[in-house]
Amino acid sequence: MKEALHVIDNDVITLPNSTTTDEVSNLKKLAEKNLFHCPYCKAKLIVKYGDEKGLYFSHMHSEACEESRKIDKAEKKYKKQIERETKVHQVIQAILHDELTTQAKNNPQLEVNYGYKAKPSLKEYPDIWVRIGNREFAISVVTNVTSTADSNLSNQISKRHQTFLEHGMEPIWFIEKKEQSIEKDKNSIVLWDAELTIAAKTTEDQEWDSILSDVVKDEMFFTYFNYPVSHGHLSIDVRSMYYIYSNGDRIVVKVQRLLKDRIEKPYRAFLLNEGYEIPFADALVIKNGFVLSKPEIDQHEREDFLKRYQHLRDEYHEKLRVKEAEQQKVLQEANEQEERLKAAREEEQNCKHQLRQEMIKQRGTSNIPRKMNYEELKSLLRVNINLIQREQMELWSTMPGLRHNYQFVWDLVVENKCKSFDELRPILQTALSKRR
Ligand SMILES: [Zn+2]
Repeated sequence: MKEALHVIDNDVITLPNSTTTDEVSNLKKLAEKNLFHCPYCKAKLIVKYGDEKGLYFSHMHSEACEESRKIDKAEKKYKKQIERETKVHQVIQAILHDELTTQAKNNPQLEVNYGYKAKPSLKEYPDIWVRIGNREFAISVVTNVTSTADSNLSNQISKRHQTFLEHGMEPIWFIEKKEQSIEKDKNSIVLWDAELTIAAKTTEDQEWDSILSDVVKDEMFFTYFNYPVSHGHLSIDVRSMYYIYSNGDRIVVKVQRLLKDRIEKPYRAFLLNEGYEIPFADALVIKNGFVLSKPEIDQHEREDFLKRYQHLRDEYHEKLRVKEAEQQKVLQEANEQEERLKAAREEEQNCKHQLRQEMIKQRGTSNIPRKMNYEELKSLLRVNINLIQREQMELWSTMPGLRHNYQFVWDLVVENKCKSFDELRPILQTALSKRR
């Protein structure tokens, strides 16, 4: 049985497929000299070669020890676990392992292993397990993720995260995501279900927390950013996501900071930065724990964020001021228009009144009696009692009874101070009855 025990005292021996017969017999000789030992039971290992399996180590008489059998089983389980991943997963995992084992050579505090080897009894494994001093880390790479990735995967990832925590490991996730659903106009990011669970909390996030707790006291804070906050009293909890992808020929990690918000679908978070890229190797720099950031970039981004907030706030209030001033202007113009109309109406009334007085003067006090005609009476009545067409006809039908004495009718209007035909009508009727 193939035992995949290429690790001897933590040194990786790579056995290329093209190993020549000479090299095989050389390795076999070295094994004869007791050079290779099982890292678990320390028993001597021999080198075997098969057409199908290639080159491999084996316990004597093919009797694998319990521990190596356990690891073997764990490896099979792990292989199944990563079946859904793309080739990128394998590449990233290999780089991760290389990078960290290189660092481990110069750092006695650092211990690196494959997840299934370090923790074979788990149900699910991190890709890489790391111990730094007394802290353990579970590093996992998830590829083949879209924003709408199925909820099965999401549940599985969340469960895995929980398991790692329960076993005293600090989980670190690198997500290879094909697209990010960022709503730029709303300053928000729509998260994949699992992201809410696996987002990290780092010292940089705590720095973000502290500046945010201050600015969100501004009740209009989210309004300035056009962000549809899910509820009024958001507790400030900034988290980080690490997106991994290849940029040209390098593998980079994009560090994304977000403020947790909606905890039900659609999972939305307030975006704090556009995300910045760091080379994968830099992301794996170790100081007590994984640095996973460029603190100077974060510091700069926090300053930028505050500036942006102040700018948006000022812009918002300036817009409000302009709008209010415009409304004020419209109101004032409407008032002025009203005033002008009122003045015009008064002017018209005055004119009419003057005209009326003039006419009364001319007609009423004239010393030279003059015969008034129908046209004159009509125009006098139009101006003074607003005589209309229908009333005019009625008046005309009355006139024969009054012997066409137009002056007589006008005198009645003046004497009785008539203001309408309705007032004049009964007076005319009385006059008519007297004349008969
Ligand atoms: Zn063994």
